[in-house]
Amino acid sequence: MAPLSAFFSMMTRKKLKLADLAPWRALFDHRLWESVSFDKNVASNRFGVMFMNKYIALSSFALVASLAPSFVVAEPSERAVALAKSFIIIDGHVDAPSTIANDGADMASGAKAVDFDYIRAKAGGLDAPFMSIYVAADYEKLGGAKARANILIGLMEGVAAQYPDKFTIAYSPKDVRKAHEAGKIALPLGMENGSPVEGDLANLKHFYDRGIRYITLAHSKANHISDSSYDSDKRWDGLSPFGFEMVRAMNDLGIMVDVSHLSDAAIEDVLATTRAPVIASHSSMRHFTPGFERNLSDELARKVGANGGVIMINYGSAFLTEAANKYGVPRDAAREAKEVEMGRKMTEAEREAFDADWREAHPYPFATLEDVLDHIDRAVEISGVDHVGLGTDYDGVGDSLPVDLKDASSYPALVDGLIRRGYDDASIEKILGANALRVWEEVEDARRKRRW
Ligand SMILES: [Zn+2]
Repeated sequence: MAPLSAFFSMMTRKKLKLADLAPWRALFDHRLWESVSFDKNVASNRFGVMFMNKYIALSSFALVASLAPSFVVAEPSERAVALAKSFIIIDGHVDAPSTIANDGADMASGAKAVDFDYIRAKAGGLDAPFMSIYVAADYEKLGGAKARANILIGLMEGVAAQYPDKFTIAYSPKDVRKAHEAGKIALPLGMENGSPVEGDLANLKHFYDRGIRYITLAHSKANHISDSSYDSDKRWDGLSPFGFEMVRAMNDLGIMVDVSHLSDAAIEDVLATTRAPVIASHSSMRHFTPGFERNLSDELARKVGANGGVIMINYGSAFLTEAANKYGVPRDAAREAKEVEMGRKMTEAEREAFDADWREAHPYPFATLEDVLDHIDRAVEISGVDHVGLGTDYDGVGDSLPVDLKDASSYPALVDGLIRRGYDDASIEKILGANALRVWEEVEDARRKRRW
């Protein structure tokens, strides 16, 4: 380990990166450095984040805690900062409602917030993060999905009511533009998992009236609407009969259809059915993670582009690189082998301890800004620059975010990277938000109000 005197002198520096602390990593719990979770599908994810927060709070290294936000700040150019501030930035997927509901996070001060809050959003030039009204797949079977969604929507309305100078719920692209001009953060609402519709189109209308502007048809398991990329149970071979009906009803109402999380066959069904452009609110390019159905194949990305839709790139490391995507495979195999040796399944505590030891021995391979740029380049090449956006999955992928893009203050760092990769201002504006706004406007234009 490097000398402590050097550590303390470095801590007085204004901007630190996590990597700067590497020589002293033995001082910190490994959980600050490594995580296995991706995209909430891993049930332990939320607990991992909570544990990490708790750890930071309890840590005797108060210095580390006080400097924690600065880990994530890269050094973007003035031009990148200026572009991030002036262009409308839309993020397709931020799981802040769950951090409020589960952890009691405060969106204005950032207390107990994980990746997103007002201060960091303002610093990053973020204008309109879609708030994920996320309802876990289990609600489909256990019941209560509609009620859960209503509670989360109520929480977001509460945030806007409590901090009217900072946040406003956005029900339309016009609302987003107004909020941008007023310097507020617009909070459009997207529902992750269609289970709350509960097989009744009257509920779809109910959620439209409450402000839901996109619905991810399924999450980690097949539901009554669609098959899921994560679920080997492909009971519908795509969409269910109700799913087809629901896509048409979403078109008529003006709710965007989100194909993230769906199986390939379900995405094909959506594209063959919808008469408005779709979104993939938080998906990356499968080209870089072969066999990972949760990301879009080139073929599907091309079709989403041809549909006029937008692919919003997910920042979770497991979505970006093969190394991160397959990180858990040898660990799971080793754990299973250990269980065979023990002659029984591990308890939850034993499993956590095993995984923690594994992480200590096998550092998590965080992706980088360059990996995100590679995905954007690929999506632009395959689908066209009018069909690419951002869907970071902040607050949804635990401690698996790329170096330099650790939270909602990171958009200037991304803009910096886009400039370096040769994107002109018009293309940067499209990727940051103009494409997503265009799709939302086209979905509004395709409404058939009379039906309702
Ligand atoms: Zn998700």
